[in-house]
Amino acid sequence: MSRFLIGRYRDIEEYTPGEQPQNMDQFIKLNTNESPYPPSPGVIRALNSEEAAKLRLYCDPDCGELTKKLAALYGVEPKNVFFSNGSDDILNFIFMIFCGEETPAAFPAISYGFYKVYAQLHRVDAVKIPLKEDFSIDYKDYCGLGRTIIIANPNAPTGQTLSLPEIEEILKTNPENVVVIDEAYVDFGADSAVPLTKKYDNLLVVQTFSKSRSMAGARLGFAIGNESLIADLTKIKYSTNPYNINRLTQAAACAAIDEDDYYKENGRKIQDCRNYTVEKLETMGFDIIPSKANFIFIKNEQIDGEKLYVLLKERKILIRHFTDPQIAQYNRVTIGTKEQMDAFLKAVEEILREERK
Ligand SMILES: *Cc1c(COP(=O)(O)O)cnc(C)c1O
Repeated sequence: MSRFLIGRYRDIEEYTPGEQPQNMDQFIKLNTNESPYPPSPGVIRALNSEEAAKLRLYCDPDCGELTKKLAALYGVEPKNVFFSNGSDDILNFIFMIFCGEETPAAFPAISYGFYKVYAQLHRVDAVKIPLKEDFSIDYKDYCGLGRTIIIANPNAPTGQTLSLPEIEEILKTNPENVVVIDEAYVDFGADSAVPLTKKYDNLLVVQTFSKSRSMAGARLGFAIGNESLIADLTKIKYSTNPYNINRLTQAAACAAIDEDDYYKENGRKIQDCRNYTVEKLETMGFDIIPSKANFIFIKNEQIDGEKLYVLLKERKILIRHFTDPQIAQYNRVTIGTKEQMDAFLKAVEEILREERK
C-alpha cells in the first residue's frame, strides 16, 4: 500500500477471484463456473478482421443493436435493458446508487463473495442474513425488511433456489426498496424473475454472458427492470465510463443471441452431466446440496474439504475451496463435459481410496 491511498480505501478486503493458472491447458478447470463449451460458430465468425479494423473507432455506448436483440429475446422493451462490463460492474453500480444511509443493504450470509466487498467499498451498512440449516434461503427473512435486497438465484456457492412466488412475496413486502435478483446461473434449470419486472417497479434482474453463454473473457453483463431503474444505471454508466462494452464484445454478443439454441442445448447437456456427477458422488458417500446451477457444493465426512482441494490440484484438477469456517468442509465443483467429470470422479475415487489406507 502506498502512503497516498486515502483512508477510506485502506481497509478494503478485496475479492479473491478463482485461480486462473498460466499453464491453464494442463488443468481440468472446475473452479470458476465457466462453460466447458466454446462460443458458438457465429461468435467466432463475428470476431473477424473487419471488426478488428474498426477498433480505431469508439464503440456504441448505448449498445443499440445488442440492446434491441436482447430485449426481443427476453420479451421486454429496449428501455428495460442495461448492459455493462460484466455483471460485477452492474452489482458495483447497484451498491453505489441504490444503497446508502436511508437504504442499507441485506443479502444472504453465504452467497456471492463480491456483495460484501461492494458493501464495504461503498460504505453501505449491510445485514448478512444466515441461511437455514440445509443451506436454503428462507424468503420470509427478507419480507418487509426495508432494505435494498440482493439475492443470487440460484444462490452461489450452494446452487439452491427460491421459487417465483417467494420472490414475489419479497417484492410485495418491500415496495419502497430495490430488490436485486442476481441470475448468473438461471439458465441451468431455475425460473427467471424477468417476467415479474413488468409487474414490480422495484425489481432489477441481473444476468451475465459469462456462464451459460461461454463468454466470461468478453465481460458482458446485463440488467432488466423498470425503465426508471434502468435510466438510473445508465446515468451512472455515463458518469464513469460510457464505452465500457468494447466493439468486439458487442459483435460477439449479437452473434450469440442469434444462436441462442446452441446455448440452450449446452445448458441441457450441463444439467444432464450435473445429475450424472451427483449420482456418482453420492455412491462415494458425498453430501451434495441440491443444485440448479452449473456447479455443485459437496462434502464428504471421509476427507477434509481443503485436503480434497489440494490433492485434486496435485492431480491437475482445480475446484473451488472457500476458507469461511461455515463452509470450509465443502468444495464447489463446476460441471464440465462428461469427459472432464469422469476424470474428476476417477481422481476423487483414488484420493478416497488412499485416505482409507
Ligand atoms: C459469476 C458471477 C457473477 C459475475 O459475473 P460477470 O458477469 O462475469 O461479472 C455475478 N454473480 C454471481 C452470483 C456469479 O456467480
